Amino acid sequence: MNRIKIIGAGLAGSEAALQLADNGWKVELFEMRPQVQTPAHHTANFAELVCSNSLKSKLITTASGLLKAEMKILGCKLLPIAEECSVPAGNALAIDRELFGKKVTAFIESHPNISIHREEVTELNDELTIVATGPLTSKNLTKSLVEIIGNEQLYFFDAIAPIVSAESLDHDIIYCKTRYDKGEADYLNCPFSKDEYYKFVEALNEAEKHEAKEFESEFFSKIDFHFYENCTPIEELARRGKDTLRYGVMRPVGLEAPKTDKRPYAVIQLRTENKDKTAYNLVGCQTMLKYNKQKKIFRMVPGLQKAEFLRYGSIHRNTYLNASHILNENLSLKNKLNIYIAGQLSGVEGYVESILSGLLVSNILIKNLNSNLLPETTISGQLWRHLITENKNFQPMNANFGLLPSLEEKIKDKRLKKEKLAERAIRDLKKKILNTENTEKK
Ligand SMILES: Cc1cc2nc3c(=O)[nH]c(=O)nc-3n(C[C@H](O)[C@H](O)[C@H](O)COP(=O)(O)OP(=O)(O)OC[C@H]3O[C@@H](n4cnc5c(N)ncnc54)[C@H](O)[C@@H]3O)c2cc1C
Repeated sequence: MNRIKIIGAGLAGSEAALQLADNGWKVELFEMRPQVQTPAHHTANFAELVCSNSLKSKLITTASGLLKAEMKILGCKLLPIAEECSVPAGNALAIDRELFGKKVTAFIESHPNISIHREEVTELNDELTIVATGPLTSKNLTKSLVEIIGNEQLYFFDAIAPIVSAESLDHDIIYCKTRYDKGEADYLNCPFSKDEYYKFVEALNEAEKHEAKEFESEFFSKIDFHFYENCTPIEELARRGKDTLRYGVMRPVGLEAPKTDKRPYAVIQLRTENKDKTAYNLVGCQTMLKYNKQKKIFRMVPGLQKAEFLRYGSIHRNTYLNASHILNENLSLKNKLNIYIAGQLSGVEGYVESILSGLLVSNILIKNLNSNLLPETTISGQLWRHLITENKNFQPMNANFGLLPSLEEKIKDKRLKKEKLAERAIRDLKKKILNTENTEKK
């Protein structure tokens, strides 16, 4: 009988444990709570949702809704339990968190193939292991991971800039250019006049911030680890002086507009998020501003006046690996092949995405699932590819339509376009699964 150790009975670990156990694997599941708590969990339940009780939209015309539909096709174990615990919330799958946690715990506790160990794991050894310890991985285990992968491959903070859709950009204003024309013109540039720049800085200075949960510093302040350096929020930089940004992240030198050869007063650069260039990241614009303020302020950026936000910016405690450098395609560590990584630690972001990750890793082990078996047109396939595709600026990713390749036909109506993207994803995924099953039968 196959045996495996799973560390962490959160969303990813619980999904992986149930998948493997139902497929006849003997699972040793380690969870440190309630003996050792994280700064965000409150119960001893498995699969505890630490903050909001929403697994986001049920509509397949939203990225999260589509992802959930794909995960159901892939045989997800936790989503049906979540649905049993749902509470009224319009189109969203909101759940009774307490009930959900209790049900998942009871399910796992009663499974004949799962043995539970309520203890903190502090070291990684040579056993076949899934590490699913999440964004708040305990200090001791983090140290052990750092010894394997190196200091610079593990981050503690997430500094996320907003992502906007390519089709919402105003290309009459924005132009393509790399600084001093070095390398390929991969960046788009939003040029500011003097007046536009100072209005933008003023708006940043006046905007309201998210209430940050400051458990980060007390928890990790005494550890001499690598910290993510570029995580100063843009509004913080703006407060240091009215010209700080234009001498820093918004520096215009070497970015003269090709048509006029004139240098703007300041520039915000946009970097593409995917090879189809359907989504762009606002370089240097990591922020703690409230979402409605982000929308208002970043729409002041020339060329972004109608920007569609696929993801908003944020900064929070988040332990995650530099996945695209250190993970194999099968989500094991390149330099310790018996260790697989699942959940938010692997570089996905969000409840549903973490469950997906547990589903993927377990199925990689159970049936040799590989990323070619999840079409590029699916959100699940693209989230997996995001983790294993070389990326100098790797950042965690949540479900969004910007991950998907464009449709062959040009559709202007946004709703219709999302419907078509969703139809294509579901159709391609079902076809792939059917083909694989038929090949296996032969
Ligand atoms: C404060 C906070 C709020 C968040 N809010 C949201 C939100 O509203 N919506 C959303 O979609 N996402 C949110 N996230 C992001 C993310 O989706 C969740 O953190 C999600 O729970 C991650 O799933 P996971 O399985 O990777 O980790 P977790 O669900 O955190 O599970 C990890 C488990 O590992 C255990 N563990 C850790 N170290 C050890 C060890 N050494 N030995 C044994 N057990 C260990 C932990 O106790 C925990 O039970 C939030 C994250 C944080 C930190």
